Amino acid sequence: MALRTLSKKPGIGMTSARTRDRMLARLREQGIKDEATLSAIGEIPRHIFVDEALSIRAYEDVSLPIGHGQTISQPYIVARMTEILRNDKPLNKVLEIGTGCGYQTAVLSRVAREVLSVERIRPLLLKARDHLRALKCSNVKLDHADGSKGLEDYAPFDGIIVTAAASHIPQDLLSQLAEGGRMVIPIGTESQTLYLIERLNDEFKKTELEAVKFVPLLGGLS
Ligand code: SAH
Repeated sequence: MALRTLSKKPGIGMTSARTRDRMLARLREQGIKDEATLSAIGEIPRHIFVDEALSIRAYEDVSLPIGHGQTISQPYIVARMTEILRNDKPLNKVLEIGTGCGYQTAVLSRVAREVLSVERIRPLLLKARDHLRALKCSNVKLDHADGSKGLEDYAPFDGIIVTAAASHIPQDLLSQLAEGGRMVIPIGTESQTLYLIERLNDEFKKTELEAVKFVPLLGGLS
């Protein structure tokens, strides 16, 4: 294969649409079925969310460092959480806890009417804002806040996605979930499990999904 120049511009060189197509084929093999999720992932250039030196690895199924001890989630987990949240239906208002570099946020912006995302590390939030602006994700609002308290002013949410692992499900997030709403959240410290929480007739149904590995959900701002 001819060597091409890497570029931060979406859709150029080794980070082209063809590379993304290969990633989509792999996600299908891994069991992702939701076409809306797959097409959102196909639209978002993942390489612009990581440092240039890592962009060659951006389409591999791995998490990668984004600075400040944090990571960008692996494509499979982004796809899986989006698919579970969507449940084959268009999403209205979604809250994401843990913006990081903004990749999952960008994917959500293609499958939800409105996305609110909170991050506790300000420099990451500022970088995410640049990435999301570059991709014209105009239905996204970012906030520098401790996400374990949710975002009371914008509640209720019909989807809540937590992209850092908590020791327990924060009560504020449960109370900000709309009737019929769905939350996906990794729980645990050493070993972690992804859970789906559904709010049905004011009761919360908890379903265990699969083993996962996330950075921890931490309190306070930085
Ligand atoms: N959604 C990201 C994943 C980023 S990693 C992606 O698309 O790849 C998880 C992020 O959660 C980190 O940036 C971390 O700083 C943030 N985080 C951890 N605890 C938090 C909290 N209490 N409130 C908000 N963000 C938090």
